[in-house]
Amino acid sequence: MIRSFIEISPESHFPIQNLPYGVFRPKSGGEGRVGVAIGEYVLDLSVVDEAGLFVDTSVGGKRLFHQSSLNAFMALGKEAWGEVRSQVQRLLRADEPTLRDHTVLRNTALLRQSDVQMLLPAQIGDYTDFYASKEHATNVGIMFRGKENALMPNWLHLPVGYHGRASSVVLSGTDVRRPKGQMKSPDAAAPHFGACRQLDFELEMGWFIGPGNHREEAIAVENAEDQIFGLVLVNDWSARDIQSWEYQPLGPFLAKNFATSISPWVVPLEALEPFRVACPNQEPEPLPYLRAQGKSSFDIRLEVHLQGAGMAEPQRIATSNFQHLYWSMAQQIAHHTVAGCNLRPGDLLASGTISGPEKESRGCLLELAWRGTEPIELGNGEKRVWLEDGDQLTLTGWCQGDGYRIGFGEVTGHVLPAFE
Ligand code: MN
Repeated sequence: MIRSFIEISPESHFPIQNLPYGVFRPKSGGEGRVGVAIGEYVLDLSVVDEAGLFVDTSVGGKRLFHQSSLNAFMALGKEAWGEVRSQVQRLLRADEPTLRDHTVLRNTALLRQSDVQMLLPAQIGDYTDFYASKEHATNVGIMFRGKENALMPNWLHLPVGYHGRASSVVLSGTDVRRPKGQMKSPDAAAPHFGACRQLDFELEMGWFIGPGNHREEAIAVENAEDQIFGLVLVNDWSARDIQSWEYQPLGPFLAKNFATSISPWVVPLEALEPFRVACPNQEPEPLPYLRAQGKSSFDIRLEVHLQGAGMAEPQRIATSNFQHLYWSMAQQIAHHTVAGCNLRPGDLLASGTISGPEKESRGCLLELAWRGTEPIELGNGEKRVWLEDGDQLTLTGWCQGDGYRIGFGEVTGHVLPAFE
């Protein structure tokens, strides 16, 4: 196992095997630039480039990392990503003196994460949210339509999705204000306007698109993974009462577009390779354009933690896994583009709520508290059916290796009361 000259604990999310990309600004001042997380540090790639250390790569000297977004780097594609990753990994190795023994350079290039402010990793042109967990779709279907009609007739044949809102994708740590909107309870004669009462989270993962495709040139399922720059955690905040009134026939709108939170570190697909697993068996067999060979999912443990305003510490309320997803990322990309839609560098695609077969693996409060009928108990005697003002909701996730973790850090957010 390769090691870094930087001390890293086995529980750290950011060992030398991970090397996720992010955009940051030193708290002491300066412009946004691209960095890589290593242990409790950030390696400033603009400094690495400035020092001429990206030798023999196609990116060296191009000031790709002196930018406050990863879009230009994402656009270059898999080969360039691989070059940068192997150079960064080499520079951080325990047996590589370039940074290790050069005090001035090391101190300029490596900043403590506590001394930087993270920014959104990309300029997100478009955001699409799928609905790729069979357990989630089934549970929601049972609640809203009954057991007989739980899955819609299309669900097993295509990855259902909708176009989300990119402008309100926010970085982890951003407060989320309870939205206001129009709602109508089933027994009410008319709708009313007010603060949402059924605020929920959704445990999801998202992936950033690399080079993308031209319009009318679909991305084939067997090439779709080449388009995945890396993955983040996603909390797709949802106002269930607004949603249930507005969603027919065109799908969610204001119930979802007030905020979507993402984690700051983008974990490269390459870092996840050792954790590749098969998707669940797909029966009936999908149409040819969605048929893929080999393992196309990943074993990523996911957790949800909730801390109410009156709680001394957060409590874990759900544990799931990325590999529960029925449709793979590659299938979702292939489907997204098959009718001619173009994806662009920095586009964000998300999985939809990742629920598993167990009760504790349900990825949102709608399912965990079964539409308000089964309150979840918190350690201090409090209960929850929906999120309350002052709640802090945190998603985290990692792949467990032998003595190391490929982690995603976390995505967190506080719920603020609605505006008066
Ligand atoms: Mn969602």
